[in-house]
Amino acid sequence: MQYILLFSLLVLTSFVNAQAEHEHLHPDGPYLLYDEDDQLTVNWAWPEERKAGQLVWNEANIADLPKMKAFRPETIRPDTTFQYSHCVTFSGVKKLAIVSDIHGQYDVIFKLLRSHDVIDEAGHWSFGEGHFVVVGDIFDRGDQVSEVLWLIYNLQLEAAAAGGRVHFLLGNHETMIMEGDIRYIHKRYLITGALLQVPYQKLYGPDSYLGRWLRSLPLTVKINDMVFVHGGLSKELVGKIRTLEEMNKLYHKFLLGKNAEVASYSTDHLELLYGEGGPLWYRGYFLEKDFSEKDIDRILKKVKATKMVVGHTSFNAIKSFFNGKVLAVDSSIKFGSMGEILLVTDGKFERGTLLGKTLSLEPSKR
Ligand code: CA
Repeated sequence: MQYILLFSLLVLTSFVNAQAEHEHLHPDGPYLLYDEDDQLTVNWAWPEERKAGQLVWNEANIADLPKMKAFRPETIRPDTTFQYSHCVTFSGVKKLAIVSDIHGQYDVIFKLLRSHDVIDEAGHWSFGEGHFVVVGDIFDRGDQVSEVLWLIYNLQLEAAAAGGRVHFLLGNHETMIMEGDIRYIHKRYLITGALLQVPYQKLYGPDSYLGRWLRSLPLTVKINDMVFVHGGLSKELVGKIRTLEEMNKLYHKFLLGKNAEVASYSTDHLELLYGEGGPLWYRGYFLEKDFSEKDIDRILKKVKATKMVVGHTSFNAIKSFFNGKVLAVDSSIKFGSMGEILLVTDGKFERGTLLGKTLSLEPSKR
């Protein structure tokens, strides 16, 4: 009996290993970095084989790049200056797809988007004029973070060309990487960093292509009557910082470096934005015992909305609380084996499953 068990275990282990190898036939990356002369280089690594490569970005070299999952060289504009868009409110959007907390699970997010026709088989945008929202946290935990980032980057361009829009809102894990906190990265990325001789956080630093893109993204947006933010907006926050525009603006000024304009705000304000009760970390809707529907009503009134859509606090499905006023969309994609997408079509809310089914969004009790 013991032998049989041991044998099964060995077979299972080799199967899992073979699967893991299969997933990484493509190198990790690319990481596009600007040097001191603002010349762009393309960097990639095969962490499993302890190999890395680099090329200077130019037309002649593009053909020599190894194939990298989700990366499309034709989308790269080396001279782009990614600008933060002050436009954070959108109205008249007829269809929306929403996920959060992808945490490097490329296969799950691809399947969810494909199963609900947000993308086609080749991963191109097929959602027309719809809006797709990622409510933060693409980084950390999983081992296909670069793949997810390139997928979302591509979709953002393709959606805009089709009259639609992709909103990638920053989560606490994006902020952590931008601030150099790499405690939660997959070990694969430590090897990539070592092979490229660049600390992981610098691969997304201000001198990287995707790092500049990340630094142009908003913290919160409003679409129709819904506010989207990774953790949530607390009573304290909306009491002191009254508009979404101001939250975004202040957050960016601070993220991009302390300057005179930020210094004119009190540390209270910055603590409200960056601290544990801030929009990227807040879990009060679910964890504060005395938080009531009246509280969410007051918050929503301040930001002139009727629904708050948040990630960050994980559930086993997409959930609706407080009579549909708080929608929790972190459906635990991070585990790599589950996850849902919230679909809003002409005001109708549904949960989209990995198998392509749509289920109704029933009210949940806290
Ligand atoms: Ca989070």
